[in-house]
Amino acid sequence: MATIGKSVAVSHVGKLRSNNQDSGYAGRHLFVVADGMGGHAGGDVASAIAIKRIAEADREYASAEDAAFALQTALLAANTMLAETVFDHAELTGMGTTVSALARVGDRIAIAHIGDSRIYRFRDGELDQITADHTFVQRLVESGRITQEEAAVHPRRNVLMRVLGDIDSSPEIDTTVLDTRPGDRWLICSDGLSSYVTDDKLETILANFGTTRDAANRLIKESLDHGAPDNVTVVLIDVGEDDEYAGMPPQIVGSAALPLTYEAEIARRALRLPTLLLHPLKSTQHEDSHFEPESEEYLDELILEDKRRALRRRITWLVAITLAIAAIVVGLVLGYQWTQTHYYVGANGDTVAIYKGVQQTVGPISLSSVYQQTSITMEGLPPYTRSTVEETISADSLADARKIIERLSELSND
Ligand code: CA
Repeated sequence: MATIGKSVAVSHVGKLRSNNQDSGYAGRHLFVVADGMGGHAGGDVASAIAIKRIAEADREYASAEDAAFALQTALLAANTMLAETVFDHAELTGMGTTVSALARVGDRIAIAHIGDSRIYRFRDGELDQITADHTFVQRLVESGRITQEEAAVHPRRNVLMRVLGDIDSSPEIDTTVLDTRPGDRWLICSDGLSSYVTDDKLETILANFGTTRDAANRLIKESLDHGAPDNVTVVLIDVGEDDEYAGMPPQIVGSAALPLTYEAEIARRALRLPTLLLHPLKSTQHEDSHFEPESEEYLDELILEDKRRALRRRITWLVAITLAIAAIVVGLVLGYQWTQTHYYVGANGDTVAIYKGVQQTVGPISLSSVYQQTSITMEGLPPYTRSTVEETISADSLADARKIIERLSELSND
């Protein structure tokens, strides 16, 4: 009996945002995640428009290449719709959205992608990230300037170099075709998941949760457990032998699931202000994703800024290390000076002497030296006194040490 593929789409507003700017779609052949942005202007509108337009490409294709071309065309059509919407609603200027879309054609998968949402393939217990983030930090990683770990905490990690929106009339869209087979799991998610949950954790959850719904819910919960500062959307597809995900109507989640009314959107936005006033930290904890045009000047500017940051970091380290060394040196000098204010009486070979310093040694360095030799011999001292001198007698001052010598000379038989 042929196994039927199962899919699910789940979206959550997260813990800090007041509205969901993500949208997700799980249809018969097509699966999409879109993450809208635009600061205070219409990120939710952007992702909803994109999903609704791209969902029109959910149909059977003769080949995966046909599907990839159709998806690319659909993304470009969505880009045009966004520009037209901004033309009619100037208050939405600057809105944009990522799109990661996947269509199955038999044992092949067609992908179209722009932005920093991600597509992963989970096969035989291993997770592979299929799409590349179109972010500034990913550029830095690819050019070897920073590591993947540094990228995850980089202050510019939310800067996107490519999205659908009203800025570029023909944005560059990545397309690719890959094989798939029954048992594969495909995950499409917004950065609200991938920025806060490690790939290892994603892999563990995909390996351990049987149904797509259980696994997707667990993924969302994992992001919530990490504070979910951003909206989080998951579309999960289990590949069966049948390449139609039939039996239920397409699932639409996030802002695309709501009626698209700009006026209502503006009213909702007005409600956000008290939230920010009551929780001023909330507005600063997560920098909103935003798009910057992919101009050479801007890239150069960012790279320069990054170099300055690296230089500042190096200088900070250098100053810190210098200060630490200086503190150690000052400590040693003061410590040595302190030892040299002390005196004691002890044996110097066969005779008694006054020593300056303390008896301890630091490695090969002795912290005391003979200050004054006397003519009192060790042999001339009574046995008990002699052993006391051998163990040394500490003095409070040089005068005190001299008094000790006077007493020893009185006791001496010399
Ligand atoms: Ca996001």
